[in-house]
Amino acid sequence: MTSDPDHDRASDHPRAPCSRVVSLLADFLEERLPPSTHLELTRHLNDCHSCHTQLQTYRSTVSLLRSLREEDLPTELRLTLSAFLDRNES
Ligand SMILES: [Zn+2]
Repeated sequence: MTSDPDHDRASDHPRAPCSRVVSLLADFLEERLPPSTHLELTRHLNDCHSCHTQLQTYRSTVSLLRSLREEDLPTELRLTLSAFLDRNES
């Protein structure tokens, strides 16, 4: 990559507003966005610290939720769940 001093000027490439980026983060992580939109977000995230932080937070939350399995749930919550299921079966 060559360093072009003019390349960093934000005015050259109007970027997506932060609110739009944040609202699309879920789809971005699931790679459900059209390539052009995905690229747009990638560009924004590369130079927007606040959106980048949001992405990190979102990503770690999602992976935490994915890693949760029933046996990892606190005993108390598991008991509540099975009590709830029992009540609905009878
Ligand atoms: Zn942003």
